[in-house]
Amino acid sequence: MAVKVYFSDTFSADAIGCLFERALSETGGKIAKGDRVAVKVHFGEEGNTRFVSPANLRPVLSRLAVRNGNHFLTDANALYRGRRHNATDHLEIAREHGFCELGVPVLIADGERGEEEEEVPIDGKIFRKVRIARRIAESDALVAVSHFKGHMLFGFGGAIKNLGMGCGSRAGKLQMHSTLKPFIGEGCTLCGKCAEVCPADAIHLGEQKAAIDPQACEGCASCISACEFDAVEIPWMALAANAVMERTAEYALGALNKKPCVCMTFVNNIAKDCDCAADSALIGRDVGIVSSVDPVACEQAAFDLVKSQHGNVDIFRKATRIDGTHILGYAESIGLGRRGYELVRL
Ligand code: SF4
Ligand code: SF4
Repeated sequence: MAVKVYFSDTFSADAIGCLFERALSETGGKIAKGDRVAVKVHFGEEGNTRFVSPANLRPVLSRLAVRNGNHFLTDANALYRGRRHNATDHLEIAREHGFCELGVPVLIADGERGEEEEEVPIDGKIFRKVRIARRIAESDALVAVSHFKGHMLFGFGGAIKNLGMGCGSRAGKLQMHSTLKPFIGEGCTLCGKCAEVCPADAIHLGEQKAAIDPQACEGCASCISACEFDAVEIPWMALAANAVMERTAEYALGALNKKPCVCMTFVNNIAKDCDCAADSALIGRDVGIVSSVDPVACEQAAFDLVKSQHGNVDIFRKATRIDGTHILGYAESIGLGRRGYELVRL
């Protein structure tokens, strides 16, 4: 039997609450009262207004308060420099964007500098274990509230990227983005902090700046967290887009770790770039909201709905030149979920 994906083309509180309830009922009562539930969101980068708003989260949280009562809002620190790079600034931007007024704890899942993580074993094709932000790894269940939009590396991003890239620790995010190792760029003051924290003794201070021995480096990302001068650089485009998608899908498998999950994906404010960037141009019309227990079915349905409502054109591929559907096939092949679904319109 095909997994159900619930869909509403309105964004009312009633519709959001109903979509959540219907998907939650599909978990078969596996999210019990008192279970620790991580509600994975994106708090939005400075200058971004496209993220799923606190107002749209309220109907989900109010139902969780009745059904569960032990939930928290969370995200993990970003790899790139910005307001979401450490927990202090990350919490501050969450507060500025209104997420701290919802009556539930707001926690950054991987600690002040992205160093708090759990290694989760998975049966992937690339990884045997992945590095998941600790508070997410320790939770009993997940609610992934995602925004469906374009992305320069993924073509589009929604539930799978939210669970995969979004739940990885800093070292996990580095692992997804690159097989290469960080390097020291401009701005190094030779303070030595990176060398102090390096577990592999891979950093040595030269005359002009520090240097990383790529042979010795384990890719733990500690030096990125430790450097207060933003001198440790990441080879962002070291992997082709398809490889980053595959790694991200495997991380989503580890984030879920067979836990019950409800995915809620808002298909509106469809910008060319993701919520880690300041607002970019809108490339599509608002479509609605989808919910499901299956992140792959949820993602496939969001993509299909956008495509069908834009003249059967993949607007993400047109805008980014990336075929984002690669992640759907790969995610299905590793058992993250199924692409086939039954759309239930509410
Ligand atoms: S922590 Fe940063 S500034 Fe200090 S030595 Fe390392 S790279 Fe240079
Ligand atoms: S990523 Fe980790 S192992 Fe590699 S140089 Fe930085 S601190 Fe050392």
